[in-house]
Amino acid sequence: MPGSTAGSTQGDSHDTCVICLSSVTERAITSPCNHYTFDFVCLVSWLQQRSTCPLCKARVIAVQYDWRSPTDYKSYAVPRSQPPADSNAHHSRTDRPGSLFAPYGLPSRPRGPRRPYSPPIEDVALRRRREVYRRQLYSLHIGSNRYSGYRDLSPQVIANSPEMQSKARTWIRRELRVFTFLRADPAGSSSAAATTSSNAEFLLSYIVSILKMVDIKASNGHAENLLAEHLGRENSKLFLHELNDWLRSPYTKVEAWDREVQYQDDAEAA
Ligand SMILES: [Zn+2]
Ligand SMILES: [Zn+2]
Repeated sequence: MPGSTAGSTQGDSHDTCVICLSSVTERAITSPCNHYTFDFVCLVSWLQQRSTCPLCKARVIAVQYDWRSPTDYKSYAVPRSQPPADSNAHHSRTDRPGSLFAPYGLPSRPRGPRRPYSPPIEDVALRRRREVYRRQLYSLHIGSNRYSGYRDLSPQVIANSPEMQSKARTWIRRELRVFTFLRADPAGSSSAAATTSSNAEFLLSYIVSILKMVDIKASNGHAENLLAEHLGRENSKLFLHELNDWLRSPYTKVEAWDREVQYQDDAEAA
């Protein structure tokens, strides 16, 4: 019998994640089978390989995460690896960009004229960020010391600091707007429940969870592997580098970081 969702709320905080065998840090629940002994990060990375529950092998349609109460959580619709034959075929995916930013190995389409779109003022910053990814620019390293105000961080520091998590969210929310494909409706969500989160909303929670569990600077590339499925390999690598720079920095406003962050090409142009 599947475990009940209600059972997960009563004092079983010492559950062991059946994927990594450590105690569950941030719970995720499989839907519809309702198994709940998984870390959010572990379950999502598991589902990237196969779409079945690690415990009962049932097909997983959605992942419920960001649990605040039994009635307050988010749901992420697991992308289907194969488009179903009976899908809403008239929903074209014209929002998907070709080339650079396309993840999931989607077929790219020829570059056409941009859709009419009047940019708000902050798009100047977004344009700059898109250029950073297009040209694969990595922000220059600044040493950690009391003069620079930069400091090194561990997953433990982030996990124990709501301020750092909030700082991370601020930047991630802006940075994810760089990737235009994330604005598209998640596949299969057209008629799904209203609680289904957008790709960007899901990724925001997912990345913060990764920050709490995984050292994003580690040379084994674990964090990069977790993200690559969603942002693409090169984007993920650069994204994590920039995120680390932001988190280490003394800045609290993204605008201030934008102003101060330096790239090789800027240094050459100066
Ligand atoms: Zn785990
Ligand atoms: Zn299950």
